[in-house]
Amino acid sequence: MAAAPRLQSVTLRFCGVGSAPQQRLQQQPRGQAACGQRRQHSAVTAVAAPVAPGPAAPTSPYAVEMQAAVDAVRLASWLCEAVQVELKSGQWTDKEDSSPVTIADYGAQALVAWSLKRTFPNVPLSLVAEEDAIELREPENLATVSAITQHVNAALAREHPQATPLTGAEVLDLIDCGDSAGGGVGRHWVLDPIDGTRGFVGMRQYAVCLGLLDAGEVVLGVLGCPNLPQYAISEDDCDEGQAGRSFSDETIGSMFVAAKGQGAYTGSVFGGMPTQRIFCNDTVSPAEARYMESFEKRHSNHTLSQAIADEVGIVLPSLKLDSQAKYGALSRGDAGIFMRFPDLVYREKIWDHAAGVIILQEAGAVITDAAGNPLDFSLGRHFPWLHGGIVAATPSLHAKIMAALRKIYAEQGEPQQPAAP
Ligand SMILES: [Mg+2]
Repeated sequence: MAAAPRLQSVTLRFCGVGSAPQQRLQQQPRGQAACGQRRQHSAVTAVAAPVAPGPAAPTSPYAVEMQAAVDAVRLASWLCEAVQVELKSGQWTDKEDSSPVTIADYGAQALVAWSLKRTFPNVPLSLVAEEDAIELREPENLATVSAITQHVNAALAREHPQATPLTGAEVLDLIDCGDSAGGGVGRHWVLDPIDGTRGFVGMRQYAVCLGLLDAGEVVLGVLGCPNLPQYAISEDDCDEGQAGRSFSDETIGSMFVAAKGQGAYTGSVFGGMPTQRIFCNDTVSPAEARYMESFEKRHSNHTLSQAIADEVGIVLPSLKLDSQAKYGALSRGDAGIFMRFPDLVYREKIWDHAAGVIILQEAGAVITDAAGNPLDFSLGRHFPWLHGGIVAATPSLHAKIMAALRKIYAEQGEPQQPAAP
């Protein structure tokens, strides 16, 4: 992208006791010139920068895969933003209409599959992804396929002008590449083309999420968050309609990346390889801590989250955000805790967490199920029983959350695993 110099002040935070004091510095110029209004930022992105090799350093065993994942997520993010521009401009007259969602979800999945196959032409693609093209192949959905293909080819023309435009049939076949069963043997890419679909339609937060499993373990993750500010967020950034800012403000739109043992990094979703190292902030006390939870009450038990917060002594209101954008925000220190307690019959899918988990871990956070067990990605497309939820936090706050949860469960009863359907 063409870049006009822009300086953004950032605060450095260092994780852990005895770490360096907070500093301020001027960030390197990045991004294009903004053509829209910029508001005053009350806080800035938490970034720490001990010497690190970078997410795609030649010494990383996953350097090639990291570049491939970043390229794929960026390509898909362009499509998502293009669809949101149409959404905002009223080209989609009915927000309850599933069409824009369909186009963005399916189009993003097709582009990620295309991009990975292009980078690794001699490696069979194993992709565990959310969408499939079964319904799209029905004759009545011809117009939808045509619209998806149009958006896919527009994104390709932007990032890969030499590429041959795809046909509708090719797009459908790419979408159906996502049918891998995954598992604990070999390598599998894991994709949620749009995590937070309701946020996407509501012009709030969403994320393109791509992870890589190697022998059942997440070893690489990339989150593209086109509507997440590159500075620390507040409640204002969670509201309905915030997506419109991303089209004119170059400080909006974040990418988070991490590979095992290489650290976690952030940068612009539409810039180059993210190189700004991030750490969770483990220095905050419960009285200063914020917790994040799903925007949608139907996705998580907010009453339980509040009870835990009360038990721990958290006084600040929660940040309610859609999608794995929460994992990115937690990784850079915007908040200290993420809690998720879905309906007990809900089966968690691995693409809803894979990319975010490795980013959290490389930033120094802890993520477990509600019983304190690590998440097991080796068992296929779904997780086993997670004891009612997922908790991610800085190490000290995670311990406090788990203690509070055990106390509440002792009083109210342990969540019971529902019978298999
Ligand atoms: Mg999705």
